[in-house]
Amino acid sequence: RLSRRLDKVASFIAKGTVFADIGSDHAYLPCYVCLHDNSTYAVAGEVHDGPYQSARETVNRYGLSDRVDVRLGDGLQVLRHGEVTAIVIAGMGGSLITSILEGGLDRLDAIEQIIAQPNIDERSVRYWLINHGYSILNEAMVEEKGHIYEIIIGTKKGGVNDLTERQMLFGPYLLSKKPELFYRKWKHEYTKRERIIEQMKKATVPEEAKITAFSDELTWIEEVLNDDN
Ligand code: SAM
Repeated sequence: RLSRRLDKVASFIAKGTVFADIGSDHAYLPCYVCLHDNSTYAVAGEVHDGPYQSARETVNRYGLSDRVDVRLGDGLQVLRHGEVTAIVIAGMGGSLITSILEGGLDRLDAIEQIIAQPNIDERSVRYWLINHGYSILNEAMVEEKGHIYEIIIGTKKGGVNDLTERQMLFGPYLLSKKPELFYRKWKHEYTKRERIIEQMKKATVPEEAKITAFSDELTWIEEVLNDDN
């Protein structure tokens, strides 16, 4: 059984999609998808030897070595051109996700779909997608062990690519649907930002621009949480 978080990520991989899971760790996600869909094939990429070995073990344990190809290498460099049409990058910070994408620009032209699950800094992932010819097709939230995660689906076809600053922060789909987890996340983010602002004000030389940016976001969060639309 997959974790709730990875199960939600897996739900965005359409049947028959040949995909790569970059930073696959134990390769739980590609193994799960291939066990439930015998029409597909996946690449599991890992940059570190420990997780690479764990990935191979999982694949062998499930007898999937002909359908999940585990490869050792940095980011998208493990992919041959045109080999997969979708990639998953899950369970890392937004800045690591965007640096992996940035480092693999030469591999991306055949990639129709990017399924990203940043643990933090979702906004930087949205910016990266929009600035590199992707639109946002869908988004979701999932809670696991007290942490609320966002999943962002980038696509080359369809979706939205003209986002306001607020949509970048909250997510265009999450903002219009406002699931229950959205309220929980942003109430928490509100108090977090309040504390950050208090701390920043106490600095010997307060960084006014940053304080203003955080204060503006506080206002946005307030409006978004109180708005019944
Ligand atoms: N994707 C899995 C998940 O969501 O549960 C594993 C997440 S784990 C926290 C992050 C994994 O990404 C680690 O196993 C790490 O070795 C791998 N990783 C980090 N940077 C990478 C890179 N540039 N290329 C490939 N894998 C990378």
